[in-house]
Amino acid sequence: MKKYDVAIVGAGIVGLAHAFQAAKRGLKVIIFERTDQAEGASVRNFGMVWPIGQNAGELYDIALLSRQIWLELNDEKVVEVDECGSIHLAHHSDEMILLEEFVSQNTHQSEIIDATEVINRSVLVNKSRLLGGMYSPTELRINPRTASHKIAHWLSKKSNVEIQFNTSIIKIENNRMISSDSRSWEANKIMICSGSDLKTLYPDEFIKSKLVLCKLQMLKSVSQRKLLNTQTPHLASGLTLRHYSCFENCTSLEKLKQRIQSETPELDLFGIHVLASQFPNGEVILGDSHEYGDQITPFNKTEIDELMIRELKKVIRLDDWTIKERWYGVYAKHPELPVFDHRVNDCVSLFVGTSGAGMTMAFGLADRYWNNLSRN
Ligand SMILES: Cc1cc2nc3c(=O)[nH]c(=O)nc-3n(C[C@H](O)[C@H](O)[C@H](O)COP(=O)(O)OP(=O)(O)OC[C@H]3O[C@@H](n4cnc5c(N)ncnc54)[C@H](O)[C@@H]3O)c2cc1C
Repeated sequence: MKKYDVAIVGAGIVGLAHAFQAAKRGLKVIIFERTDQAEGASVRNFGMVWPIGQNAGELYDIALLSRQIWLELNDEKVVEVDECGSIHLAHHSDEMILLEEFVSQNTHQSEIIDATEVINRSVLVNKSRLLGGMYSPTELRINPRTASHKIAHWLSKKSNVEIQFNTSIIKIENNRMISSDSRSWEANKIMICSGSDLKTLYPDEFIKSKLVLCKLQMLKSVSQRKLLNTQTPHLASGLTLRHYSCFENCTSLEKLKQRIQSETPELDLFGIHVLASQFPNGEVILGDSHEYGDQITPFNKTEIDELMIRELKKVIRLDDWTIKERWYGVYAKHPELPVFDHRVNDCVSLFVGTSGAGMTMAFGLADRYWNNLSRN
């Protein structure tokens, strides 16, 4: 039986970020992925690396560190990364007031731009009732459908990294991992990066963890001719201002939340806020909704898709609203922590629950984890 320094269960972005950091430190790493390539949240997302959504201070710094690592992967030609930035759009006066308050706090790289400048920067924006927006230069676009696969492939070429696809780990005994086809491996350190699968390996730990699952419905439009080969920033609507915790320090938030709750309570019911991420082939990923815990069923709700499209039409203009693909994704979320990082015993650690920000945070969180480990 071969023995490894580090074994990682799960080849989503979180597992890959840990494998990358461990391999960089010269450790002998093995990664296990039960499918033939990752199919979880890491391929189902918007592909937005979104530091602007993180709270000022430590979390924003971790997101910026992740951003830096994504750019290094771009320089090494592992994945293509577009430094697209983002615009939060204001189509209501309370949204503009909140954005101005946020920018005046001076905690994030951001600036207020007027309506003309918003339109100059994105051909997608709905000009009707547009008041202006907040531009942030820090957001990145990566292709979520291919990024994890490319990173896994690149890691597998390193002499100290091995990846076992189609290998489901069903049991861990001391430092030994056992797969569903009865093979086994040993490692000094085992990291469980199983995403939303909280039940297979350590169900009792997860029950104690307070982690909750969250389901998001997503859409992709057909290619928009006007977007072909253009570079446009990610777009977020005013609804998004009530979603990301970075805005929670703004005193004007409560009034905005109350207006949305009284005008459109159905949006709060399904946790709907709208974002658009456009790709060089002209397609636009659109979303999203949030259903938690017992609300989650395997079936998508047409009502949610229709509400998202209704709200998207208020803030963006597509030439063709034909929806090419519909899907959902599930992530695990901890109510207080950016990630549930828990030591089960001397050998095994859980590292799950990066919520809706794993693409933004995974590389920075993993870097911090491995630095702390080498200090202790
Ligand atoms: C719809 C949606 C949109 C999102 N948009 C964004 C965004 O734009 N920006 C952003 O920063 N974040 C976004 N997120 C969040 C982000 O996608 C997640 O935080 C991140 O992908 C979680 O990564 P992960 O590696 O923990 O999980 P996953 O990607 O789910 O990977 C876990 C992997 O572990 C494997 N696995 C599990 N158990 C076992 C086992 N026992 N044996 C072997 N393999 C196992 C699974 O097969 C899976 O491939 C979004 C999430 C969703 C669902």
